[in-house]
Amino acid sequence: MKNNYDVIVIGGGPAGYTAALYTVRAGLRTLVIEKLYAGGQINETTQIDNYPGYPDGIDGVTLGQKLQQGAERFGAETVNSEVVAVQLGGQEKIVETLDGIYRAKAVVIATGAGHRHLGLEKEQELIGKGVAYCAACDGSFYRGKTVAVVGGGNSAAADALLLSRIAKKVILIHRRDSLRATKVYHEPLKKAENVDFRWNSKVTELLHGEKLTGVRIQNVLNGHH
Ligand SMILES: Cc1cc2nc3c(=O)[nH]c(=O)nc-3n(C[C@H](O)[C@H](O)[C@H](O)COP(=O)(O)OP(=O)(O)OC[C@H]3O[C@@H](n4cnc5c(N)ncnc54)[C@H](O)[C@@H]3O)c2cc1C
Repeated sequence: MKNNYDVIVIGGGPAGYTAALYTVRAGLRTLVIEKLYAGGQINETTQIDNYPGYPDGIDGVTLGQKLQQGAERFGAETVNSEVVAVQLGGQEKIVETLDGIYRAKAVVIATGAGHRHLGLEKEQELIGKGVAYCAACDGSFYRGKTVAVVGGGNSAAADALLLSRIAKKVILIHRRDSLRATKVYHEPLKKAENVDFRWNSKVTELLHGEKLTGVRIQNVLNGHH
């Protein structure tokens, strides 16, 4: 009985703890299983300025803890472990973690998403020091500066457009000779006077001191840097 719940939420990020807050307040015995830290990806940022109710912003770690506390105030439980398998076919759902098996009538999967990294040396260490993965989140830190956006899909195009209104100059670096992004982005990007394109190019090196200072790019057609 101890490991039997009405709802198991896999993932203790903002989505997971929001789900848990609602299910536990609906009177359902709720367990959140989180493999790392409450708050998920927001732990990676020092300042969140777009969460309503915090006029001075809030740091990610604190917000993560508050999300957990908010759900636990109503009785949600948290287990720190990694879910390695689920059986969702039967009436009773079985959730297997590295530390044991839990059962529930329903399972919410809120395991989030990951950013696509370039896989370059020092990339991880430069996160928050010039390397970012979300213009809506971190764009304002680059106000009036020159920024490079890598990619040609919807995320890259949308972020380049957003940054063109914040940064002094945006350089969009893409491996192909045209954008993969939906057409709606093409015209505004071409019209933006501060957006330059580096087609058929890939980033081969992050240049840095303490912080990122630039990127080295290579033309994929002729190999020139
Ligand atoms: C550097 C950075 C800055 C950001 N800044 C902002 C900002 O200023 N404003 C903003 O609105 N958004 C910001 N974001 C985006 C925001 O953090 C995400 O949109 C949000 O965290 C997504 O929430 P989520 O709950 O869906 O997923 P996640 O936050 O990814 O949470 C998923 C959770 O599931 C856990 N998990 C995954 N697999 C398993 C498993 N098998 N077993 C157990 N647990 C598992 C993970 O450990 C994680 O904690 C930022 C993101 C980053 C990386």
